[in-house]
Amino acid sequence: MVVRTIPVDSFDLVIFGATGDLALRKIMPALYRRFLAGQMPHDARIIGAARSEMTDTQFRDTVRAAIREHAAGADPGQLDGFLDQIHYVAIDAQGVGGWDHLSALMRDDVVRAFYFSVAPSLFGDLARRLSEHGIADGDSRIVVEKPFGRDLESARALNATLARHFGEGQIYRIDHYLGKETVQNLMAVRFANILFEPLWNAQYIDHVQITVAETVGVGGRGGYYDHAGAMRDMVQNHMMQLLCLTAMEPPYHFDPDAVRDEKLKVIRALEPVSDADIVRGQYQGEGDAPGYLEDVDNPDSRTESYLALKVRIANWRWQGTPFYLRTGKKLRARTSEIVITFKPPPHSIFDEAGPRANQLVIKLQPDEGMDLFVMIKEPGPGGMRLVQVPLDMSFAEALGPEGADMPDAYERLIMDVIRGNQTLFMRGDEVEAAWAWVDPIISSWDDSKHRPEPYDAGSSGPDEALRLMHRDNRRWREIRP
Ligand code: NAP
Repeated sequence: MVVRTIPVDSFDLVIFGATGDLALRKIMPALYRRFLAGQMPHDARIIGAARSEMTDTQFRDTVRAAIREHAAGADPGQLDGFLDQIHYVAIDAQGVGGWDHLSALMRDDVVRAFYFSVAPSLFGDLARRLSEHGIADGDSRIVVEKPFGRDLESARALNATLARHFGEGQIYRIDHYLGKETVQNLMAVRFANILFEPLWNAQYIDHVQITVAETVGVGGRGGYYDHAGAMRDMVQNHMMQLLCLTAMEPPYHFDPDAVRDEKLKVIRALEPVSDADIVRGQYQGEGDAPGYLEDVDNPDSRTESYLALKVRIANWRWQGTPFYLRTGKKLRARTSEIVITFKPPPHSIFDEAGPRANQLVIKLQPDEGMDLFVMIKEPGPGGMRLVQVPLDMSFAEALGPEGADMPDAYERLIMDVIRGNQTLFMRGDEVEAAWAWVDPIISSWDDSKHRPEPYDAGSSGPDEALRLMHRDNRRWREIRP
């Protein structure tokens, strides 16, 4: 199968924070891959900006080294051609230097996009200076990264700051989970096939599980993480987006606002979660390996590195079908998946134990694909014995090598910015609605002084999380390497 690459319009993409981790580890390698795929026009330009004084040549050398290190598998043979399209401007988001230089560099007849790969406290300064210097106009786009606030109040303030200079149609809030091929395939599977949608409701679906498990601890991000925790770092954004795409009604069209309107309705229909439906955990140290409290250097920390929640959506489609979410660090395997467990058939005609429920497993990490578990007859003589097998819909098999070589989420999302397509970006009201649901849950933890349950590194999380399911006669799908 031939994967089509449609070139985008020419652009000037300014990356603020171009010498930082995100720019060098993710954004530049993603752009290089799009260059190799032939999607980046030859006259498009990437303009790096940060405070450090550097020449174009020095910055290109930095980018060259970053791509060699982080664009694994990408042919380095065309690096020089790519680097020729890169420039650098020394600029201080909070100062006066560099802005006239940037203004003079920008071209009029191309798409102008500004990637704010800096701390959110600088977003307001950048937005203001871009408009004051006339560098951004009504067609320009800005791209902002998480964290998008740490509660409803700060998210509202951030939205208001950006809204002073840019319309909502110009703001691209990145959640890289939405750029994953499988996440978009979830919409294709649901809305481009007759097979699933008639069953996609509480009458046929017993429950949904969403898991984002990591094997790493908080690493060098301890200071940041201890002020965030799994709820702010994972659930409010990435897992909320997965929940929305799984639960939303069919939009009238695959159009940015139609899709985002439906996601927003799901968030607004989320019921408050009671303490009994929440399990929080902290990983423990083992031998020389530090535990969470050592990693964040705070023996009194009550921040969770693990979180499991039973969530209910108060609407017709999902009445009686819970969504169980869990995420954590230092777990048994790195895996992200959505598991749809259907109800068992209403009557079994077979003598032995009845058929097991069908499951649709949508895998996002480490390999993207889907498995549909169905019952078949166990082969061979000896009566009618049933066995459950996966119908493997891995993209590598179905689409061949080209289809399996899927673009990284950043590749797709940055190209969508240039195309002006906001479907896979969060709208301001979605972000605020998610915080409005999350805030009371977090404040109840702050008030209760409840400590997270300890769990062993390399395990599936605290035992309490297993009980959250067992008491409903359900079980988590095993976290497997
Ligand atoms: P970082 O490594 O600390 O880089 C920050 C960048 O901002 C540097 O290039 C720095 O260069 C520049 N900078 C700092 N102050 C500036 C100023 N006053 N004016 C202009 N440039 C300034 O941070 P990062 O990890 O790349 O993260 C960037 C943003 O993305 C943050 O909002 C972060 O939360 C978010 N994010 C990062 C990741 C990730 O994987 N790293 C993932 C998700 C979201 P100079 O010091 O030379 O100015």
